[in-house]
Amino acid sequence: MTQETNSPWRGIHLIVGNDAQMDALAGEVPTLAAMGINVLITEINYSYAYTSHPELRTDNPISKDRVRALVKVCREHGVRLIPQFQCLGHQSWSKTTFPLLLRYPQFDETPGQFPNNENIYCRSWCPQHPEVNPIVFELFDELIEVFEADALHVGMDEVFLIASEHCPRCKGHAPARLFAQAVNAYHAHLVGKRGVEMLMWGDRLLDAETTGYGIWEAAANGTHPAIDLIPTDIIICDWHYELCDGYPSIPLFLEKGFRVLPAGWRNVEATERLIDYAQQHRHERLLGHLCTIWGAAQPGALADFPPVRAALAKLA
Ligand SMILES: [Zn+2]
Repeated sequence: MTQETNSPWRGIHLIVGNDAQMDALAGEVPTLAAMGINVLITEINYSYAYTSHPELRTDNPISKDRVRALVKVCREHGVRLIPQFQCLGHQSWSKTTFPLLLRYPQFDETPGQFPNNENIYCRSWCPQHPEVNPIVFELFDELIEVFEADALHVGMDEVFLIASEHCPRCKGHAPARLFAQAVNAYHAHLVGKRGVEMLMWGDRLLDAETTGYGIWEAAANGTHPAIDLIPTDIIICDWHYELCDGYPSIPLFLEKGFRVLPAGWRNVEATERLIDYAQQHRHERLLGHLCTIWGAAQPGALADFPPVRAALAKLA
């Protein structure tokens, strides 16, 4: 990479779902880089034209040529490009179930339950179904190869369905053990076998009760003890989108030995507060800041998204 390894991360995270969005993003990279953005995390999930598992592609998936074009422009402008594949949770959104659980419903943590995804947030795959990881790892490998990536973000936020009474394998198991088992399996493949870095969201590793965070940005479903059961070379993307007095997860993750990348969203004041708080906890393992987008701005117009501008002004 052309990027200096010691410069603070000034990152953007966004979901990219088709070639048109890839084109718009690639076209904007020179502008973003000139503003100071040096990391781009593109959440791809099932929206790539996978050849190992074409049955898991979404409609109109991103083509290899478009990824290569993005890789090229990022390299030319010193932007580290990191693909993301959302693991474990977020396997559906509203009534839409995503390809893995559509094609392989037996992988569902709650198979046959919650018709039309009613009364749940998102589906999860079962972390103990023996056929899931071999498939998912082939998708990881394709992304690493086509993105020429030296890191992969595995998502893992907001997992609510875990250790379900509806899963014959997981019923009665400790959620933290199951969550850590999944993290450790992905780490063994990515860091151990492929030699790339691993990033993940941090919320399931935080105790909602002791941190004072809500049950989205921290866990009230028993996964948080996993924080002590996973490798500390994982980069934790510590997302907080609301205005808070403090963000105790930042010193907590640092204390545990992780590298931490705090992440904000659309609230400019909250973004600034999060960056200010992080700057009060300067540490060599505190990497910088990640601006998430979540559809609040479109690829091609990210440079005008107010929190991106605010974050870059703070980090300058
Ligand atoms: Zn299970």
